[in-house]
Amino acid sequence: MTRPVAAPTRPGVLFSLMADSSLHLETLAIHAGHRPDPITGAVTTPIVLSSTFERAPDLSYPAGHNYARSGNPNRAELETVLAALEGGAEAAAYASGSAATYAAIAALAPGEHVIAPLDAYYGTRQVIAEKERWGLTVSFVDQTNLAAVRAAIRPTTRMIWIETPSNPLLTVTDIAALAEIAHAAGAIAVVDNTWPSPVGQRPLSLGADLVMHSTTKYLGGHSDLTGGALVTRTADERWARIRSSQKEVGAIPSAFDCWLLLRGIRTLPWRVRAHSANALAVAEYLATHPKIEAVHYPGLTSHPARAIIEKQMLLPGGMLSIQVKGGMEAAVAMTNRLKIFTRATSLGGVESLIEHRQSIEGPTTRAPANLLRVSVGLEHPHDLKGDLEQALA
Ligand SMILES: *Cc1c(COP(=O)(O)O)cnc(C)c1O
Repeated sequence: MTRPVAAPTRPGVLFSLMADSSLHLETLAIHAGHRPDPITGAVTTPIVLSSTFERAPDLSYPAGHNYARSGNPNRAELETVLAALEGGAEAAAYASGSAATYAAIAALAPGEHVIAPLDAYYGTRQVIAEKERWGLTVSFVDQTNLAAVRAAIRPTTRMIWIETPSNPLLTVTDIAALAEIAHAAGAIAVVDNTWPSPVGQRPLSLGADLVMHSTTKYLGGHSDLTGGALVTRTADERWARIRSSQKEVGAIPSAFDCWLLLRGIRTLPWRVRAHSANALAVAEYLATHPKIEAVHYPGLTSHPARAIIEKQMLLPGGMLSIQVKGGMEAAVAMTNRLKIFTRATSLGGVESLIEHRQSIEGPTTRAPANLLRVSVGLEHPHDLKGDLEQALA
């Protein structure tokens, strides 16, 4: 018996929407890769939990999936949206941001050299440094200094890893300039775009080759999933290696996590704009507060990389760091008086979080002792400022 395979109700919608560059991010976030389910008519994609897919009598797989480690409808939809949001050719989804970082680094060969930033997500520095055991060589360089980056280039340099704004000091580096240096050396530029999200920064349009995301953060947006992604500008030979390792290693997100992430992505542009407006209000308030030593935020005109920010960022984003007068003790005591902000790591969720960074990063931390990292949520900015005011009083 041959069972009928339902034809897609709107064939082509998946990729035609993606290729239509006249569409805005808001529209792509909702429609790219999506169509009502052809079998049930469900407007929201059903969660497909099946680990395996039926093969047709002619040995083909009519819906394109054969086994869930290799691919699944929820993951396919997610990857289509992620590629559309970053303006890339393809995306690969992972079980965490760190798994995505690992996949990009593991695509390099022994003997190759990576230039990584001094100030970066702690776990990224660990993943990159750990690969020295496999014969990779790594230079950690202050990437705000382009001459230092040029000086670090070796004949074997194949990747410049970029994180801007950086974690936790919100330093900003020039993506276009770093991509140019990378390309001149025969290397690629990879940008961790987790903090700004595609709403705040479009690295591929600035010359980067690969974008990495911890989708745990703004893309998910509700602090209820762990995920990661890589997005490539071109589906080249390197990408083929990354794609096959994604399927072979299997550090993939579950169907439910893909579905949850898609649900978050639908509202991404609106959420990130609101996060950014709230963060600017909080940063401007704290910048003049007598108990605050420094505010690190790309939206402040006092930021040392103002010219680059205006050139490459679309929004300053929802993340900032503050240094509290009186050292670690005063900083931690302040967090203990807050009522709306939650003391927790991570970022990008609807709720505001605050974190003493040095004590969580361990011995090789670069975070100052009095530094608190703040993820500004979607509460009313007046309430957030009020909470900070009473905690600093
Ligand atoms: C959280 C984060 C990561 C790591 O992602 P996980 O999903 O926690 O593995 C990498 N880079 C940045 C900038 C992050 O904020």
